[in-house]
Order: sequence, then structure tokens, then C-alpha cells
Amino acid sequence: MKRKKKRLRVDRIIYCLLVLLFIIFLIKLGSYSLSNLKIYNTVKEKNIIIVHKRKVRLWKKTIKYIKDNKNETVIKYKKNYLYLYSSELDNKFIINLDIKKKKINKPLFNNVKSLYIKDTDTLEKINKLEIKLPMFLYKKKYVDVYGITDNDIELVQKRIKVNNKYVKFTLNNKYKDYFITYIDLKDYNVKENINLKKDELYDLSIIQNPSNATDNKVYYSNYDKDIISINDDKIKALKKGDTVIKVKINDIIKEVKVNVVEEEKKVIKEEKKEKFDITVKDGITYVDGIMIVNKTYSLPKDYNPGLQKVYKDAFTQMQSAAKLDNINLFIASGFRSYDDQVKLYNAYVKEDGKEKADTYSARPGYSEHQSGLAADINTAASWFDDTQEAKWLKQNCYKYGFIIRYPKGEEKYTGYKYESWHLRYVGKELAKKIHDNNDISLEHYFNITSVYKD
Ligand SMILES: [Zn+2]
Repeated sequence: MKRKKKRLRVDRIIYCLLVLLFIIFLIKLGSYSLSNLKIYNTVKEKNIIIVHKRKVRLWKKTIKYIKDNKNETVIKYKKNYLYLYSSELDNKFIINLDIKKKKINKPLFNNVKSLYIKDTDTLEKINKLEIKLPMFLYKKKYVDVYGITDNDIELVQKRIKVNNKYVKFTLNNKYKDYFITYIDLKDYNVKENINLKKDELYDLSIIQNPSNATDNKVYYSNYDKDIISINDDKIKALKKGDTVIKVKINDIIKEVKVNVVEEEKKVIKEEKKEKFDITVKDGITYVDGIMIVNKTYSLPKDYNPGLQKVYKDAFTQMQSAAKLDNINLFIASGFRSYDDQVKLYNAYVKEDGKEKADTYSARPGYSEHQSGLAADINTAASWFDDTQEAKWLKQNCYKYGFIIRYPKGEEKYTGYKYESWHLRYVGKELAKKIHDNNDISLEHYFNITSVYKD
């Protein structure tokens, strides 16, 4: 007896479970109920929305309420149509309907659930829909909407923000049915190492995988804001240095190493010889016939030519040409003898110390001013860099045989900081070649050094 009773109870439990499963099965089979479909009527002339009753299977009782803000909305039923009139022209009214929509699981892509909106053409003269999403979609931050034409599926709107379980999107006559879906990001590709030059702009162009994944917002963190800035997935190199960007999309985090270097001026190889002849005559060094005076190559103490005629003549020509452009040029400091340089250099050392003085002033015998082929134009001060005169010289001096002897970015070759005012005469031919090579320095061009021995 006892055993029989027990078995009966087990049977009953199994029976109940089966019934429950069957009910769940029926619910699953049944249509998906969508509540709160907001319809925005934007037809201005006549404030009417016509709903095809039969196609939408719209019954009186399915309309929960019609909200027309302060105005009354009149509902009229005519045959298969439902007419909704607003009492006031130009009034945007929202109708909350309870329409049954089908949910289907694999309409578009494998393993992607979508909300399927059918027969939207029955909602005539409407251009916007706001729909409450089912749970599998409203938990996402963004969804995509696809539209179905007679023979194709097209992306209607990507990455629509889910606003408190709702999405709103614009309808298009082209599509009869719509899918609202979300395609999960599995991975993304981003470059691991990026080398940038100062001021360079670089597009990270992250490729999301799968390529039709719902666009996700990319978060950047951790990086040194002094070295780079990031805006709209674009990196801007601000200053020399290394930094690591932590890139985050959904829960996938990746690191991007960024190295920013100072811009290196490039030598155009075709224009440049690989080897130049270096000759020394009377203690003076010439490379390819051009006199070289720098921290490696000095002049004899008694070399005393004064500002040379070739310099003066070329300068006079340049001065006249500049005048036509309303640019006033003059020589501020031309020839300096060995003894002049002794006084000058010692004064600088006294003021700034030897190490610093060496970055802007030459030691006696190592000054280009002693060559008679160099001069400071207008003023020897860094504020000159931004003047119209300095800009004019930078653009035009090569035409008269001059070069900016200590260019910006060439400090490691010349051993001197940028001097926009110090012009060296090298002759038109070489000046043009150097100009065509991005205005590199003489040292860079000839592949020679400029370093003091001690
Ligand atoms: Zn100078």
C-alpha cells in the first residue's frame, strides 16, 4: 500500500511537470505581445492616422488608451480601417496600442535574435515608431534596425540608443518589415604598436568582428595626455615619448603601445651623393668645395677675411627682392674675428656656464662668423622666428645662395639650437639642393659631424 501511494505521487508530479512544459511550449509558440507602440504622426495637413485593421488584427479592445496630450482624439471604425483624428492641427499625438507582433529567432544572421516587426505599411502616414523592446534587446545599450525590401535586407539605422527599454526609429516606405536586432562583438582588431611623429594624426580604425557587429563605443584610458590626445578614434601625437593606451570595447580590453618621436627630416636619396670629398687646405676644411666651420672643423686663429664679397653681393640682391615684398632685411652681425669671438664666448660662459653657452655660441675658432660667409640677419633672438621677415627668409633665401644654417629639428646634426636669423652663403646650386631636401642642415646633407673633441 505504501509503495503504491508513493508511486502515485511521483506520477502526479511528472504529470504536472508535463502540463507545465506544455504550457511553456504553447507560450513559446504563441505570438509575442508588444505593448506600448508609440506612433508619431507627423502629417501636418490632416492629423489622421489610418490603421489597417485587418492586417494588424486590431480590435477595439487592443487599444489601451490614446494619449493626445491636452486634446481629444476621435476614433472611428470604418470597414477594415481605423481612423484616428486629432482635434487640433499640427498636434503630435501618441497612441499607445497593444499590437501583437511575432518574435522570430533567426531571421537575419546565425545565432542572432531579432524582434520582427511585420506589416508596418498598415500603419499609414507615420514616419516614426517607438517600440518597447523585449528583454533580450533592451538590456543592450544599442540596437540596429534592418529593413526588408522585396528581395533584400538592408541596414536602416545602426546603433540606435536604447532609451529605458525603448527605441525610436524612422520608417521608410521602401521597407515593409523591420528587424530590430543586436549582433554581439566577438573580437576587434587594433594595431598593437604605433610609431608616430610629433604632430602626426593617426586614425586607429578599429575593425570590429564580426563586421556587422552592432557598433560599440570605444573607450580609451590610461594613456599619457601630455604625449597624445585622442578624439573620435584619432590619435594626435603631442610630444616625444612612450605611452600605452588601454582600449576597451564591451568587455574586451587591449593595449596599444604608442611611440612618439621628434620629426626627422628626410634626405631625398636621389639628390644626395653617398660620399663627399673632404679636403683640408691651409688648416681650413672643405667638403665638396664648401668651407665647413662647425664644432668638429675649426678655422686658424689668423683667418681674417672680413665679410666676403660673395656674401655681400648675394645679400644685396636678396635685400632688393625682399623690399618688393615689403620685407626689410639688414645684416645685424656679419664678420667676427677670432679675438671678437673670444670676448663674446667668454662673456656667455660667465653668464650661463660652458655647457649652456656651447648650445648657442661657438668657441673661438669654431664660429662660422669668422668664415666671412655667415651673418645674423635683422636680429639674433628667438622672437624673430615668428616674424614675416623670418618666414620670408625661410622661403626665399635659397634663391640667392643662402641657407638657414641651424634649422629646426636638426639640432643633433648641427650641435646648435634653431637660429632663424643665421644665414650662411653656400652658393645657389647647393642652397637649392638643400632646400629640395626639406632644408636639412649642412652636416646632415654632407654626412659629417659637429662635435667638440672635449
Ligand atoms: Zn650667427
